[in-house]
Amino acid sequence: MKITSINPFDQTVVGETECVSLGDLAKVVSDSRTAGIVWSKSKIEDRISYIKKYKELLENNKKELANLITNEMGKPIAQSIGEIDMELEYLEFYIDKSSVVLKEKIVRQDDDVIYKIVHEPLGVFACIAPWNFPLTMFHTGVIPALLGGNTVVFKPSELTTMSQMFTLNLLNSTGLPKNVLQSAVGGKDIGAALLDQEIDAVWFTGSTKVGKEIYIKSGTKFIKALLEMGGNSAAIVMDDADIDNAVENIFWGRYLANGQVCNADKRLFIQAGIYDDFMVKFTTRVGNAKLGDPKDVETEIGPVVSKSQFELLTNQLNTAISKGATVLVGKNKIENALLQKGNFITPTILTDVTTDMAIMQEEVFGPILPVIKFKTIEEVIGLANDSVYGLSGEAYTTSQKTADILSQAVKAGTIGINTSNYFKPECPFGGYKLSGLGREYGEEGFLEFVQTKTVVTTGIK
Ligand code: NAD
Repeated sequence: MKITSINPFDQTVVGETECVSLGDLAKVVSDSRTAGIVWSKSKIEDRISYIKKYKELLENNKKELANLITNEMGKPIAQSIGEIDMELEYLEFYIDKSSVVLKEKIVRQDDDVIYKIVHEPLGVFACIAPWNFPLTMFHTGVIPALLGGNTVVFKPSELTTMSQMFTLNLLNSTGLPKNVLQSAVGGKDIGAALLDQEIDAVWFTGSTKVGKEIYIKSGTKFIKALLEMGGNSAAIVMDDADIDNAVENIFWGRYLANGQVCNADKRLFIQAGIYDDFMVKFTTRVGNAKLGDPKDVETEIGPVVSKSQFELLTNQLNTAISKGATVLVGKNKIENALLQKGNFITPTILTDVTTDMAIMQEEVFGPILPVIKFKTIEEVIGLANDSVYGLSGEAYTTSQKTADILSQAVKAGTIGINTSNYFKPECPFGGYKLSGLGREYGEEGFLEFVQTKTVVTTGIK
């Protein structure tokens, strides 16, 4: 069987990738275990050397990979290049910090007793990825897992198989020992079957629905599960906010990657005193957003990833309208014939929404943003936390006191104050509530990929 990648802009075939057969999965995993016997004992400096070589290869192949990402998932080319640049910075972090984070540490010494902490691999890691940041989602599990001495079986998304296999092959071309990093190409069935194999840990990023299934399966096996799942983050604009900064940050906070970002601003709350002034500028910015061919460097918003995602978003939008929401900007007025082939949803702003509507409670994974006016800080804290998700949030205010109150009160793993651009390799990322379990990035995130062992020694002559 093969996976066919379709370009969401013009529906042409980008290419095909051979799937692994269900029957071969057990061997893939047992080969991974065998490769781990030597890899788990390798020196951290040697593991880092492969990542260094890979980083060079990635820099040399930037243009080809950026084109592939854009062709496969419709992200504007400038953003595909931006994703690769961001990942080069993350790789630099791993290259610089791995040996420091994983180094054994003496944490206490009492007379002749030494207390030491060491880190060991977990074993065979299954890494199961989504499609919205094809390169980031390949790196986030695979790189720390390999540096931690684990072997990896990577399951790419069925929507970006070519981009993710391109990077996997690039990493393997550094001379990484055989079977240390393997793929399990396929659809949901392959992802589900991978969980049934003799794996030792799983890193999963994707929807909360699938994440819950994985949590149950890994719980039955009693193996570690790192889960990064859906979000419904709130952006809060207070009366004292810098309007122009808030408009630009929330524009990108919602519409980056064509609205398909886990931590995107999926609900917008604006304080009454600034509401009218903010909305004049925000609706103008969104209404003038440059929709177009994602290969054009000027394009800000491209098509959503697939026909089924287009239909889901259209249903979510129509349901909201049928429940009383007003479309302030948007509702698919695409007149350009060239764009009509693509899975385009015009960037949309909805008002007259209430918190009990599905558009406020479900994750909406596309360029649609419901807006609610509020009066007091207490009210907006209640609104922001009225969600089963808790991935991130943003507050726009020029008061430190207000920033402190909101960053403490909003139940989410990351809070941006006056910014929607808060990803940095030193900063752990992950969710509260149904947005996930565990952290990625930073020292905390790195240590999720290893076992921590305490060695207490005395009586050595
Ligand atoms: P998805 O859950 O449909 O699929 C993710 C991966 O899981 C794919 O590779 C898929 O084939 C596989 N899969 C599907 N069913 C499976 C099963 N039963 N068992 C094992 N594997 C299975 O998600 P998606 O549509 O690819 O991605 C969009 C979702 O990802 C959104 O909810 C978004 O918020 C979330 N996301 C979260 C983060 C984060 O860091 N929290 C980052 C990116 C995306």
